[in-house]
Amino acid sequence: MKVFKFGGASVKDAASVRNVAHILEIQRGGEQLFVVVSAMGKTTNALEQIVHACYEKQNYADHFSALKTYQMTIAQELILASVAENPIIPAMETLFCKLEQTIQQSASYSDFDALYDAIVPFGELFSTRIIFEYLKYNGKNCRLINAFDWVKTDNYFRSAKVDIERSAEQLQHIMVQHPDVPVFITQGFIGSSAEGNPTTLGREGSDYTAALAASILQAESVTVWKDVAGLFNADPKKMPDAQKIAKLSYKEAVELAYYGAKIIHPKTIKPIENSNIPLYIKSFLTPEDEGTSICRDVETETQLPFFIFHDNQILISISVKDLSFITEESLHHIFGIINRCRVHVHLMQNSAISFSICVDNDPVRCRQLIRLLSEHYTIRYNENLELITVRHYQHSDRNALLTDKEILLEQRSRTTAQFVVRNLKN
Ligand code: ASP
Ligand code: MG
Repeated sequence: MKVFKFGGASVKDAASVRNVAHILEIQRGGEQLFVVVSAMGKTTNALEQIVHACYEKQNYADHFSALKTYQMTIAQELILASVAENPIIPAMETLFCKLEQTIQQSASYSDFDALYDAIVPFGELFSTRIIFEYLKYNGKNCRLINAFDWVKTDNYFRSAKVDIERSAEQLQHIMVQHPDVPVFITQGFIGSSAEGNPTTLGREGSDYTAALAASILQAESVTVWKDVAGLFNADPKKMPDAQKIAKLSYKEAVELAYYGAKIIHPKTIKPIENSNIPLYIKSFLTPEDEGTSICRDVETETQLPFFIFHDNQILISISVKDLSFITEESLHHIFGIINRCRVHVHLMQNSAISFSICVDNDPVRCRQLIRLLSEHYTIRYNENLELITVRHYQHSDRNALLTDKEILLEQRSRTTAQFVVRNLKN
């Protein structure tokens, strides 16, 4: 058994889906395949816009029809039969009806995150349905497994935690019923709680779904198919002289993912590391090329600096109202609030009278965080910032990196430097 994961860019239009079908054919090597797919192109972002519109009680119709046109165009271009003979169309109509019903019930959702998890999974339901119907139409023996039926999670909407034991039971139960199926397809990123509510695992969570499936099924490898030829020491679209890394240890990969390297979701490594399953990152454009392999034993770990950029950051400074010190007790209280607002801290620093955190500027969560903190503390914040992380930092990188930038906060350890900056140029 091998596990393949296809991200949004690999299924962004009809030609890409045909390419995926081709990769499944040539890269399978007679093995059973478990294929995890995320939403097509920028579908998740489009669904997020719909969620925001519903939540703010604004008109969502334009977003909805643009999304439907996009998905239906792919469906029509893939199977050039009349609409009546194209099996993808009725299946997609059913899904769009369900999406519309969910949107119409949006007032009944307890909070933003629960509404988000009811709506955003449709991206993965669409993509897997299109690919499955397309493969079946072309005579391929494959099976679509609904991730709601096997990825079992808690109720922590938008960053749900997987119950690995229950998920393993469910998936194994499904798999034994189909021993002769060569290709299984399932949705990445989504799951369901014990009560049956849909949940999501956090943006880019499909990698984690793939790793989870691999460890449950004791797969021989996981391959993540990307639009880049492997893992680079910086985003090659931003830094043209970025270099590809041939091999990386699990440990180094965890560090990079922790600091937000976009290439893999932070939770991906642990399940496969436990079972020593290698992870390959390869390009769906040049599938024969080597790519990057992440595994346990790497003789010489690369010492190249890795550059990781996060935009849309907010730096929040929290100080005690009477200008007394920030104590362990106040930190405990502050973190209770941060945790309650489900905000993930990228970087923190404290001084005698203030404590600062740098986080993604998620409009709903940050607004709530600032409101709750303001009840007890004096809050100041700066928006539109960038967080730059350099692993294996060398002082010589500094100038090129920080030109035209004002540094608001800087932190360094032996291996890693982080800078919260404001771009002075835009
Ligand atoms: N479609 C989801 C996202 O864009 C999950 C994923 O791509 O892994 O975040
Ligand atoms: Mg995606």
